[in-house]
Amino acid sequence: MASASETIQMADTAIANTYKRFPVVLTRGQGCSLEDETGKTYLDFVAGIAVCNLGHAHPAVARAVAAQAQTLVHVSNLYYTTPQVEVARRLVQNSFADRVFFCNSGAEANEAAIKLARKYCKDNGEPDRHRIVTMENSFHGRTMATLSATGQAKIRKGFDPILPGFEFVPFDDIEALAAKVDENTCAVLLEPVQGEGGVCCPQETFLKQVRQLCDDTGALLVLDEIQTGMGRTGKLFAYEHFGIEPDIMTLAKALANGLPMGAMLATEKIAASFGPGAHASTFGGTPLVSAAAIEVLRILTEENVLDNCRQTGAYFQKRLRQLQERHDVVREVRGMGLLLGMQLWVDGESIVQACMRQGFLINCIQEKVLRFVPPLTITTEQIDGLIECLDGLLAAADAKGK
Ligand SMILES: *Cc1c(COP(=O)(O)O)cnc(C)c1O
Repeated sequence: MASASETIQMADTAIANTYKRFPVVLTRGQGCSLEDETGKTYLDFVAGIAVCNLGHAHPAVARAVAAQAQTLVHVSNLYYTTPQVEVARRLVQNSFADRVFFCNSGAEANEAAIKLARKYCKDNGEPDRHRIVTMENSFHGRTMATLSATGQAKIRKGFDPILPGFEFVPFDDIEALAAKVDENTCAVLLEPVQGEGGVCCPQETFLKQVRQLCDDTGALLVLDEIQTGMGRTGKLFAYEHFGIEPDIMTLAKALANGLPMGAMLATEKIAASFGPGAHASTFGGTPLVSAAAIEVLRILTEENVLDNCRQTGAYFQKRLRQLQERHDVVREVRGMGLLLGMQLWVDGESIVQACMRQGFLINCIQEKVLRFVPPLTITTEQIDGLIECLDGLLAAADAKGK
């Protein structure tokens, strides 16, 4: 087997350089812990970026995937397979939606949502209704359509011409949105809580106002729950916190706890615009990834993971706020459930690296926001470990600023 440095050297010549990677080679995981090639262990507050919500190597998920791999991995969506139907049944049963389209990633789920929204308007005799309003600071993916929908110039840079028809307004600003949405607006697309944009939560009433605006104008409400869905905010889907239902919702990340799976959910009326041939995906909803998703949905709806997320999330947020009181370098603490962010006045990268040396994986977004998205099974003791580590590092950062 190659040593860690050989692996890293090889990666740096053979793998496209699209990620700035940490110089560590991870080899195994169990629950909230990860191990690297040297045997050093880490507590994982990244969870593959809000993907492994049930932790690593979850026994029930691992068993289901292993059994399915020995039975049937893939056949094409030309045929029915029972695991896919079961995932759809569970998603429909536990959400606003009537129908599910399966794909393999978040970007693909959003692509499907954008296509469906536009086609629905065309099918309903409104060919000019194609404009889609999204939020500044949003993140919807890296394909041409989804980066065009993403309200961050740095993500669109270099890829002109982007897809026409997208407009951006500030997040959580109902007046700005109302000024942009009219009878030619096909859809409003947004994340209930902005993830990559810096863990930004809307005011409590915002999503209700967006829903009302969409109802008044006939625009569709599309929620990107790729990061917030599957229990991350303490409910199965974040929209449940806000007393509204969308017309279309996208999922991916945690849907199959690390196996690549995306989904686009819609009401019957809207989903009717996706007939045979309108859209497709070779790998969408294979028996293999579906076997994982069935277990994920079963565990999230039957076991106490969501309770744990709400309780440990509230505890975690309280402890982060205590750090904010103690340290000048902390600007703000935000989030819901176990989607938490701590905005600093300084760059966070050196804190991420120092945490890693001390055995804690966290990540930093938008330069100054430390993001915490551990498995939803994290314990208060594990949170205490990270808080203690951060306390020391923030004290050092305070001192440096003086
Ligand atoms: C991660 C993410 C995406 C993109 O998902 P990919 O699987 O990387 O394509 C889209 N929207 C949101 C809100 C995300 O967090």
